[in-house]
Amino acid sequence: MSALRDRVAFAAEERERLAPWAVASAASRGRVVPEPEHPLRTGFQRDRDRVLHSRAFRRLEYKTQVFVHHEGDHYRNRLTHTLEGAQIARTIARALRLNEDLAEAVALAHDLGHTPFGHAGERVLARLLRADGGFDHNRQTLRVVDLLEDRYPTFRGLNLSYETREGILKHGVAFAHPVTLPDRSGQTPLEAQAADHADEIAYTNHDLDDGLRSGLLDPTALEEVPLWRRVHEETRARIGDAPESVQRAQTIVTLINRLVTDLVEATAARLDAASPRDVDGVRRAGDRLMRHSPAIERGLHELKEYLYRNLYHHPAVLATTDEAERVLEELWHVLCNAPDKLPVQVRARFDEDGATRAITDYVAGMTDRFALAEHRRLTDGRDVH
Ligand code: MG
Repeated sequence: MSALRDRVAFAAEERERLAPWAVASAASRGRVVPEPEHPLRTGFQRDRDRVLHSRAFRRLEYKTQVFVHHEGDHYRNRLTHTLEGAQIARTIARALRLNEDLAEAVALAHDLGHTPFGHAGERVLARLLRADGGFDHNRQTLRVVDLLEDRYPTFRGLNLSYETREGILKHGVAFAHPVTLPDRSGQTPLEAQAADHADEIAYTNHDLDDGLRSGLLDPTALEEVPLWRRVHEETRARIGDAPESVQRAQTIVTLINRLVTDLVEATAARLDAASPRDVDGVRRAGDRLMRHSPAIERGLHELKEYLYRNLYHHPAVLATTDEAERVLEELWHVLCNAPDKLPVQVRARFDEDGATRAITDYVAGMTDRFALAEHRRLTDGRDVH
């Protein structure tokens, strides 16, 4: 056996190791602009690396998940959220003999299109763009990887593989996009479904963790949520008396484990029953083949509802998001009214993308702290309406 594991060796290993319903890198539908293969890495490994080396990826560090970045050093931001999600996506993919590289590429890319200030920022841009083509973070992520990253001489964007783009886009209505969109009529491959579930498992758990540590969530009231109570009781039985911070961490560990294990077991049973012959069998399935068991699905839904009411709508969180919405809206108006204030590379895109879309791309790409600094610099405290 050769000491060298190159792309050809990886492709052979995939044939041995992956399930028939997984996406083998050699079977990819390819890139929009054809490129020669890399000697060492498969196409999906290369996609993952392109995402990781992008500017948009580095900016995730300074974008809000729930808590704005300057509130404390231990809360999640969009970068640590993405890394936690990617780790869970790899675990799910590996357990189901899926293509771990593709699941990882989709998971690392999934939030690149998020605005500053979390969903508050997305709400503002969706409102401002209502009559002008709309705004949605999945679609914006596709704009980032297809158009906005500027690293290559012969194409715009990162020129990712079809399946990575398909996983980023998920479902959704048609919209104007200058690059051919992946087909959205069926289900996404299981690697993309894994990234999607991993996202949900990651944010549910780290928001619980951050919410409890910040004091915004009340640990006694949280016991009313059946899934949390069960997992918490189990954890106490396992570790006995422990400091509160260890109890909390271990309850989160138990909950992540429970959710991931349930997901892969329930999905394996569904795959055994449906036995799709290949990835197109997964795409054509009437429903997503990757799902939790009905009991955990219900429990997770209740837990997310609880977070929605008690954390995402907590007055302390809403106060920061109200301010964020005001800042972003003013910034967008100022730039639309005075395009000479824009960097030259943004104005250079007016012809191709239209002024409104180019300005929106620019604002959407900002980190929280850059948006705040630009707002201060451009408004100087003046009323801009
Ligand atoms: Mg996410």
